[in-house]
Formats: sequence, C-alpha cells, structure tokens
Amino acid sequence: MLEHKDFPYKFDENACASCEGNCCIGESGYIWITVDEIEKLSQHLNLSVDKLFESYLIKYGYRFSIKEKQLSQNNYACIFFDIDIKRCTIYEARPSQCKTFPFWDYFKTNIQEVKDECPAIRD
Ligand code: SF4
Repeated sequence: MLEHKDFPYKFDENACASCEGNCCIGESGYIWITVDEIEKLSQHLNLSVDKLFESYLIKYGYRFSIKEKQLSQNNYACIFFDIDIKRCTIYEARPSQCKTFPFWDYFKTNIQEVKDECPAIRD
C-alpha cells in the first residue's frame, strides 16, 4: 500500500492486476516525458532519439508528450499500452508522470475523479 503525506487516500498496487488499465486509457490527455526520460526510453527500446520522436512522441511548445492511439470516440490509450494484455510495454522506463500516479496535484482537489477512475484507491 502506497501512501503520500499530502494526500487523503492510499494506493493499493495489488489492485492493478485486475484493472483494465484505467490510468493509461480514457479521454485524450498529455503523458509528459522529460528530456532525461526520453534518453532513458530510447536506450530501453534500443531506438535512436530521432526514431523515438518520429513514432512515439509529440512536442507541445517546449514540452514533450507520448502519443496516444484512438480506441473509440473520446477514448484513447497511450501508444505504449498493450490493449490485449492490458499492460504498459515500457513499464521499467515509463515517465515519472506514470510512476507518481495517483499522487498528482490535480487530484488533490479532484479526489472523487481519481476514486472513480482507479480501483486501487483506498481510504
Ligand atoms: S507509459 Fe505506460 S504507464 Fe505511462 S501512460 Fe503509457 S502505458 Fe500507461
């Protein structure tokens, strides 16, 4: 069970095994990745940074995001999420945005939203 002193809920990682990937699927959004994380991901995938950009990343202003794939209307998945096995395919090299879920500042004021989205949230 993971806890964070600034958040009123806990995160039960064991619940991830029975989840369909709610934190990687849903409305379109940004999956921010830093320059250092891009470097690590390129090594992890054994791809040049240029190739990684070409296939998997988008630049927004001065920031970078992982691309999404559309599954249905208003329903998208991270391009690295394997829909069939419901797993992240770059788990060891996933960006910190993914590692820190569900302890995001946004959820401090949107607690019901994370509870609705994630079956691993515990009081
Ligand atoms: S990188 Fe992995 S954990 Fe992060 S959104 Fe994509 S599939 Fe999910």
